[in-house]
Amino acid sequence: MRLISPLLKHVVYPGLSRSGYLRRLTNAGPAVVTYHGVLPRGFPLHDPLLHDHLVSTDAFIRQMRLLKSRYNVISPEQFLLWAEGHLKLPSRSVLLTCDDGLGNTLSDMLPILQHFGFTCLFFVTGASAGGASAMLWFEQLYIWLLRAKNEVSIHLPSLPSVRVGCRPKQIHSAWVELTKQLSAFDTGSRVQMLEDVRIQIGISKDWQSEYSQSRTLRSRFFMLNVQELRKLQEAGMTIGAHTMSHPMLSQTSEELAFKEIADSKSRLELALGLPIWALAFPFGNRGTVTIREQALAKRAGFKSAFMSVEEGSSKNKFAVPRIHVSLKTTLAEVDAHLSGFYRSLRDKFTAPMTA
Ligand SMILES: [Zn+2]
Repeated sequence: MRLISPLLKHVVYPGLSRSGYLRRLTNAGPAVVTYHGVLPRGFPLHDPLLHDHLVSTDAFIRQMRLLKSRYNVISPEQFLLWAEGHLKLPSRSVLLTCDDGLGNTLSDMLPILQHFGFTCLFFVTGASAGGASAMLWFEQLYIWLLRAKNEVSIHLPSLPSVRVGCRPKQIHSAWVELTKQLSAFDTGSRVQMLEDVRIQIGISKDWQSEYSQSRTLRSRFFMLNVQELRKLQEAGMTIGAHTMSHPMLSQTSEELAFKEIADSKSRLELALGLPIWALAFPFGNRGTVTIREQALAKRAGFKSAFMSVEEGSSKNKFAVPRIHVSLKTTLAEVDAHLSGFYRSLRDKFTAPMTA
């Protein structure tokens, strides 16, 4: 939700939602919502920027209640039939999706979805096709940068150095820069370079033990392994791919980008024994997804690919826009986006993305 002004968020949306105006709007196609998991009640929010893309458990329940009472939640398979022109959907249809496949999707999110009778399309990386649980590399990086005791400059071979300040915004911009740089490499090289970064910041080798030993931290930071992924599938949820290692695809060579996209499809299909037809682009905005990535998704055999934000076009099956719900998103804001009100405002100011 990029185009947020305090006036819209705090005055216009609540007023429109209360008045019943948003309830009368009919969106053109299904609205697609992106989650990244839920934070358990009482989760410590010392570093809001690190957790901003998740939602609290209570907020998630309120949002599901809103969906149940005012919208038509469709299954991922109904979405596919609609996208291929085989099904007409009722107005105010909504598809739920969730990226990254963190442990809390199974432990905290699934029971709530089941309570409301909803299904969801979960996009997971190639790591979830294996037996071991792992953390996302760019989240590890963020944790290390937050723990840096002093300002530091990171030097990686043949790359511009990156200065890490102490303020949250400085840390965030250093994280974006390093994530871009490291996305260009294959997984093996990236792991080695991350080790170099860890040492330069002064983080101890066993830093991960507190994350793997705490149930709460594990469910927040560790991705599902294949046994856990099967439980989501057995509960009636649909699994989609989110590349092998979650790089910013636009920063990689075409060969590497294709491998990231295609291998995640084949690995997950092998692990789960079902076709994987949907892809969510990592970091999926216009800066990280170009026409090249859309074409690669099609070439790899996907039937549809999703952005992470409301960029793209609902008419383009390989750049489906999604409504990104985050920790700060209010209920009225969710209503304004799902009803199509926000989109109609936004389309007046930005050109559509074309394939
Ligand atoms: Zn992701």
